[in-house]
Parts: sequence; structure tokens; C-alpha cells
Amino acid sequence: MKVFSQTLLGRVPIHSRPCQTLRYHHVAAAASLTRTAPASVSASSATTRRPALVSGPYHVPKLHGLPLLSTRGLGTTANKPGLRGFAFAFDIDGVLLHLAEPIPGAPETLRHLQENQIPFILLTNGGGKHDADRVAELSERLGVPLSTDNFVQSHTPFRELAMTTATQPGTKPGPGPLQDKTILVTGSDPAKAREIAEAYGFRRVVIPADILAAEPAIYPFEPLLQERYAATARPLPPPLPPSGGPLKIDAIFVFNDPRDWALDLQIIADLLLSEQGRLGTYSRRNGSPGGWQADGQPALYFSNPDLFWSARYPLPRLGQGAFQAALAGMWDEITRVRGGEAAELVRTVIGKPHRHTYEYAERVLEAYHASLAAVPPPKGEEGAGAGAGARGPLHRVYMVGDNPESDIRGANDYRSRDGRTEWVSVLVRTGVWDEARDGEPRQKPKMIADDVRAAVRWALEREGALDK
Ligand SMILES: [Mg+2]
Repeated sequence: MKVFSQTLLGRVPIHSRPCQTLRYHHVAAAASLTRTAPASVSASSATTRRPALVSGPYHVPKLHGLPLLSTRGLGTTANKPGLRGFAFAFDIDGVLLHLAEPIPGAPETLRHLQENQIPFILLTNGGGKHDADRVAELSERLGVPLSTDNFVQSHTPFRELAMTTATQPGTKPGPGPLQDKTILVTGSDPAKAREIAEAYGFRRVVIPADILAAEPAIYPFEPLLQERYAATARPLPPPLPPSGGPLKIDAIFVFNDPRDWALDLQIIADLLLSEQGRLGTYSRRNGSPGGWQADGQPALYFSNPDLFWSARYPLPRLGQGAFQAALAGMWDEITRVRGGEAAELVRTVIGKPHRHTYEYAERVLEAYHASLAAVPPPKGEEGAGAGAGARGPLHRVYMVGDNPESDIRGANDYRSRDGRTEWVSVLVRTGVWDEARDGEPRQKPKMIADDVRAAVRWALEREGALDK
């Protein structure tokens, strides 16, 4: 387990396969549920197990005299029209870090943006750690103060299903649609995934080990991780009134690359075949036309679609996308054998390049952009056109990434809800894309840059924000 956790630090999704044929109605349903959630529920004791997330804009450090950038003319100019109407979204692995080490120029580039109050977020398909832990780790590795306010990892958008946030249009912070529902979570370390889910505000979180401990016959093989399961299992929560009966699971979340495929696949398949998501039941609608996953079974969520990821082993490792493909293939067989015609697995997939993640990221950036209006402007920009209330809308976001099929495809395909924010894709040469090996990327970026520093320089120049 320890080795696996360490390799996650160096996570580099090296290929992603967008699932074009999936249905996304769960996210849409969740969004509408979010808007109709009850107004107030007291905080859960579970949410107090971890420190509260950092709120508000981070303190912009005044780090002057950065020779690396200043010698390349990356100083911004003051009070230019539209200077504050753009922002950046950076992928992490292959853009800012390579196997946990900073890519040359990345720390200075982030510091430069902070110094000039140009908003950015880090947008990654990685996961498996709580946002605050991951941000603290990144801050240390990059030597740049970062905040959870401008950080989105693969499972971060799930938090809106537990707690609505101020960034959601038309909502106030409050309970989300699944806060008090019973959810199953799994990942590379399901116990850790439970901790993250609880920190997000989910109150009734079950992991596969809980179910195995309560009903060992559910998995009729010798569990290889018996001691681990025993150490992490909790008693199943009591069924929610008024239903009683077997425990009902309302949603299933794959937080990051699963470790225990066999156990996870068995339990998820059981739930997808169940009546109303109740453990140990079988829906009578299974096999009838339109009957699969149509009897109140739990919604199924995946946090990213990456088929492979790069760890310390020289060959790519199977990721969450591979687990999803295995489950979808199994579902195809199950429904074919029991229904005569294969049924599509209904699930929701977020993470780059899927729209929901970009939409979430844009809202986080907008909130951050707006919050900067309350921060005193940089030295020399105190005059007209700068400062509180003068920033205007966010009209452009530069997505800087190394993966054409993930970062670039997502930015190219995404359309802002009201069309007011344009996403511009910039591909860097410091990551998984190798021009000599891969040729021209199928997903064409707006610009190809040698590294993140060159990418930012190009964008600043384009925005008229670069000192000549
Ligand atoms: Mg990357």
C-alpha cells in the first residue's frame, strides 16, 4: 500500500479515452437537485475530523526581483484595458511537475502570476488525497503558496453533491443532494477515499470493506487484504427511515484508480442489479425492455476517464478508465446473458476532458477572479482601472496542458454556459506528448509552447500584458 501511495505522487495520465457515448443525466439531475436542496442542516461530526478548507483568496506574496522571469521580460504592465479579464488553468503533471520534481521555470511562473494578481487554478485528473493535503504537498514541492481555492483535482467536483458552494449559480452554501444519503466510495485506498468524502461533507460513507466485514459470503474468495479490510471496516450504518430492510446505497463513487478490482466489481455489479440499491436484493425489472438500472439503483460516478497513468514502472499502468472499461464490459455480458440484448452501462464520468470538470473549474476561477477585486492592486497599479470592482468579467482562460487527448481536447470542446468565457488551449512539450514520437496532435491546440513559462509568456503577450 505504501508503495502505491508513493507512486501516486508521480501520477501522469498518459492517455485518456473520452467516452463519447455515455449518458450524463446524473450530473444534470444532481445539478437540479442541488438547487432544490433544503436550506439548513447542521454540520456533521464527520466533517470535523479534518481541518476546514482554506477559504477566501490566498495572500498574494510580494516576491519582487525574480531574475529568471525579469530577464525574459515577463513583467506585466499597469492599467491596460482587459488586463484583468483573463486567467490560467494549469495541468500539474508534465506541466508544473515531472515525477514530483518541479519543471524548470514553473515555480517562477506561478509566483509571477501571483505577484501580478493574475488568477490561475491547478486542474488535474489526479486524486486520492484530500485537496488540502495535496495542495500543501504541491506548495512545498513548487515552493509557491497555493490554496484549495484555486485547486481542482479529479474528485473535487463531487463535493458539490455533499455541500453546495458559493460558486454554484443561484445557490447559497448549504447541504447538497447526497449529503445525508448513503454512498459507496472506492479508490486506490478506499479508507482514504472515505476520509476525503467525509471532509467534502458526505455523512454516510460506506467502503467495500464495510460490506465484506458485514457479509463475508459476498466475496467467496480468500481476501488478500484481510488484515487491511479488518483495520478499515466500520459497521454498516443503519437503514434510513422509513424504509428499514437491507441497507440502501444511493450512489457509488470511484474516487481514483481502484486497487481491489475484483471485490469492487462484485459489489458494484450487485448494487447495479439490486432493487433500489438495497444490498442482497435483485430487481425484478432486470432483463425487461428498459429495465436495467431503472429500479432506483445507485447513480454511478467516475472521477476521471484516464485509461493509463505513468508511475515509476517503465510501462504505463492501468488507471481508472481501465476499471471503468472492465465494468462496462462486464455489464455488457451480464445484461446480454440475462436479457438477450446488451445494455449500456449508465454512468457519469467527470475529469478532463469532460465538460462538467471545465464548467466547475470555470466557476472556481470566476469566484477567485471576483475575490481578487477585494485585494489591493499590485504596486504601481493603484490608479484608475485597477482595484475593487474594476476587473470586469472573465473573458478568457488559457488551459496549459501536456496531454492533447485530455487537457487540449477538453479546452477545445468546452463552451462556456453563456458563451462569455473563451478557453484557449496551449500544449507544452515537457510532458507526455512527444512530437517526434506522436507526430502532430489529433487535438490541435491554439499554441504549442516549449514549457509553461513560454506558454504564459505567449498568453501575456497576446493579452497585451507584457512589458516590451
Ligand atoms: Mg499532465
